[in-house]
Amino acid sequence: MATNHKVGSSNLSGRAKIIMEIYKEFSIEAAHSLPNVPKGHKCARLHGHSFKIRLYVEGAPNEENGWIIDYADITQAFESSRKILDHSHLNEIEGLDNPTSENLAIWVWEHTISDFPELSKIEVKETCTSGCIYQGESISFKE
Ligand SMILES: [Zn+2]
Repeated sequence: MATNHKVGSSNLSGRAKIIMEIYKEFSIEAAHSLPNVPKGHKCARLHGHSFKIRLYVEGAPNEENGWIIDYADITQAFESSRKILDHSHLNEIEGLDNPTSENLAIWVWEHTISDFPELSKIEVKETCTSGCIYQGESISFKE
């Protein structure tokens, strides 16, 4: 017996709700050094990056206007972080004394989520080939 139903759509009557992600990418010029790397590691020296930071929103496109939210809303949500981070020495910013990409993603998340609960994911790219993705989740360990 052949079935051609796609996963998740076989029992739906009418149109399935489409879920997708949109993002806006920002560029931050900043200097940092990593204080906790092994002795002699190149990242212990002061250096700069053109960080690419993407803020994501997940949802269903509005049936009338066809978008999830206005991209301009994401730009506005990032603006206060951008003012602090751009052309800065990251280590001097409160909460970023060890400014790895991972800690920068957490920092941006914590500075954004209360005013912008639509935020679903943050991506921080330190170089063209290195970056990290954070979705606001943490793991609890039992003692
Ligand atoms: Zn670096």
